[in-house]
Amino acid sequence: MNRESSSPFGTTRTVLGTVGKCIYCKRSDVLLSEEHIIPFGLNGNQVLLEASCSECSKITSAFEGDVLGRAFILPRLGFNMRSRHGKNKDKKITVSLEQNSNISYIEIPAEDCPILFMMPIFMPPEILDNRPPQPGIQGTGSFYSNEIRGVPKEKLREKFGPGKIAVNISYNPNNFARMLAKIAYGFAVAHFGIDDIVDLGLVSSILGKTDNIGKWVGVVDSDEKFAPKTVLHSWQLGIQFSYEIDAPKETVTGRLSYKISLFSMFDTPEYTIVVGDVKNLASKISLPV
Ligand SMILES: [Zn+2]
Repeated sequence: MNRESSSPFGTTRTVLGTVGKCIYCKRSDVLLSEEHIIPFGLNGNQVLLEASCSECSKITSAFEGDVLGRAFILPRLGFNMRSRHGKNKDKKITVSLEQNSNISYIEIPAEDCPILFMMPIFMPPEILDNRPPQPGIQGTGSFYSNEIRGVPKEKLREKFGPGKIAVNISYNPNNFARMLAKIAYGFAVAHFGIDDIVDLGLVSSILGKTDNIGKWVGVVDSDEKFAPKTVLHSWQLGIQFSYEIDAPKETVTGRLSYKISLFSMFDTPEYTIVVGDVKNLASKISLPV
């Protein structure tokens, strides 16, 4: 179930629907803008039209901007990915250079930028393992890291002489988790429609109105990865059905979760996001009789 274009970094826009109300605050009497499900700056292609008001958009742009500008800055520059104002093209990354116990900072142009991924491994979503509630997101203390391309040592040695190079990546795990939640929620709206999703509290976590994003977002251990390595980003939908055996099919509801893998071509972690429940399932997918 993958809808990315054939080039992993391709940017062919796909409209997945027109919502007509803000998917976060549900207002429809305000100016609504389109919503990139996977952020534009990660070359996300799928959009929902008329899906976010300016107030909610301010909140989601802030945590997305933080993740894109810090946690994912190296792959974004190194792979020359999109940015809103074409700013990535001439951007430089600052690295520290230690020579004879002197530290100086040098700038490396985007095309020579090291490509280094670092992603946190979270505990499973609280709602799935019934541990006591905690604020924010809970990490396990381990990280996925992968160096796709190093700092161009020869070039640097030529220019600056020998020394020790260090690159810093920093990120806010809460913002990272909120961005994952926003992506999963966006897919859920596209797949099931805003009116049939029963929000159990995810939306207020995305908006930062409650501090419990770890209830919905995490990493669930699994033996096999779902994501193909031929696409940039991947998602997978999961529905857990529940119904009374003798009840009419119309009453069947499902608990909706998504697995999201960003930069899945590099064997990155797969995050699980419990989005909420979905109503009227019988009208949307064919169910076993
Ligand atoms: Zn709104």
